[in-house]
Amino acid sequence: MLKLQAEALLPTQMGNFILSAYSSKTDDWMPHLSLRTSESFSIVENPVNIRIHSECITGEVFHSKKCDCGSQLDGALSYIHTHGGVLIYLRQEGRGIGIINKIKAYKLQSEGEDTHSANLKLGLPADNRDFSPAVEILNILGIKKVNILTNNPQKIAILKNSGIIVNERIPLSITSLPENEEYMRVKKEIFGHWL
Ligand SMILES: [Zn+2]
Repeated sequence: MLKLQAEALLPTQMGNFILSAYSSKTDDWMPHLSLRTSESFSIVENPVNIRIHSECITGEVFHSKKCDCGSQLDGALSYIHTHGGVLIYLRQEGRGIGIINKIKAYKLQSEGEDTHSANLKLGLPADNRDFSPAVEILNILGIKKVNILTNNPQKIAILKNSGIIVNERIPLSITSLPENEEYMRVKKEIFGHWL
């Protein structure tokens, strides 16, 4: 079970957020994180803007052109800073397969596999993400009704099944590049994202 381990104000280029870390063990080096604009969202009738974002070190830190994670993270943080809300940052690199397997998959992609078939060739699920920690974090924050920033129908289904009321979906605009064309095609055609 996740617990709030630490919390502090984080000034960023987009403005101030409250940064929080959640894990079950106090010495977890890879805790899930949240960045939020208010101390509490106590008015339960009002939906809170949320983004559930999974870690992608290549896209977010190194500005890789192979995916749209970096621009999705920036877009979501900017929206949340302007309109208020919470970004939940889940530590499940590479759709939950980890950075080593992700690099192996990138190697296969350079040899002609797509983002879906490369994982299968490595004997891994195409998408191994678990969004249940996000539900735990929403519960810790006392959030029961949300507007979710996403293009992924699966996230909405998971929230609804967990008893969270999804008031509205806010689409995230994405950056299309020649290098991520194939990635975006697979996202749309195989993973069923709204793009
Ligand atoms: Zn990415």
